[in-house]
Amino acid sequence: MRRYVDLKDISDGKLYGLTDMVKADCHGCKGCHACCTGMGDSIVLNPLDMWRLTRALGCPFQQLLALGKIELHIVDGCILPNLAMTGTEEHCSFLDADGRCSVHSARPDICRLFPLGRVYEGEDFHYFLQSGECPYPSKTKVKVSKWIDTPLYESNRQFLLQWHKLLKQVEAKQPGLSEEERKTLCMTLLGTFYNWNCSDEKEFYEQFRAAATEFCSQFE
Ligand code: SF4
Ligand code: SF4
Repeated sequence: MRRYVDLKDISDGKLYGLTDMVKADCHGCKGCHACCTGMGDSIVLNPLDMWRLTRALGCPFQQLLALGKIELHIVDGCILPNLAMTGTEEHCSFLDADGRCSVHSARPDICRLFPLGRVYEGEDFHYFLQSGECPYPSKTKVKVSKWIDTPLYESNRQFLLQWHKLLKQVEAKQPGLSEEERKTLCMTLLGTFYNWNCSDEKEFYEQFRAAATEFCSQFE
């Protein structure tokens, strides 16, 4: 989800790379779950997030929707899934009774980064530290690569760049389409990139690349 803000208003003004140290470590959060509460529809899931969740839970995409764990909304012209917030306190549907993440090893990209964010520039991206978002009082420095806990980093980076580009292409294509064509495009995107059946992370990246090629050839 794109945010139209000035980076200097929401960060410490610096951009970080994978090997940089950043003051983001909140030491296991110690009972806090502020960033798992009241997030509305902002925790948008990418195809890898959905693959990780469905694999960890043994629960397909449609079932997660039916159970109210995730929901759909329109983001920059595309219909995409997000984590559902539930209950009177609007907790993430995966927060357990002890206030901990019940899907920690399969948590989505946005949760992995927090309180870091990602800013895309040209054909690359950098990380930034969101200021004022995490209330933990004495965060310490940690290497970005350790904090984001992302295996197969280069494959992941290529996937994120390709996904970002593909979403922008889908959005750009829509003004010239009829309502029916727009709906077909959005539903095909959803069906193509969120119903996975692959067994390891390496296979995910391979299948994503193949699916992206096929999808783009259909809508060129
Ligand atoms: S707001 Fe900060 S301390 Fe609280 S759960 Fe999120 S990352 Fe942890
Ligand atoms: S998936 Fe886990 S870390 Fe992410 S918002 Fe939900 S409970 Fe919090």
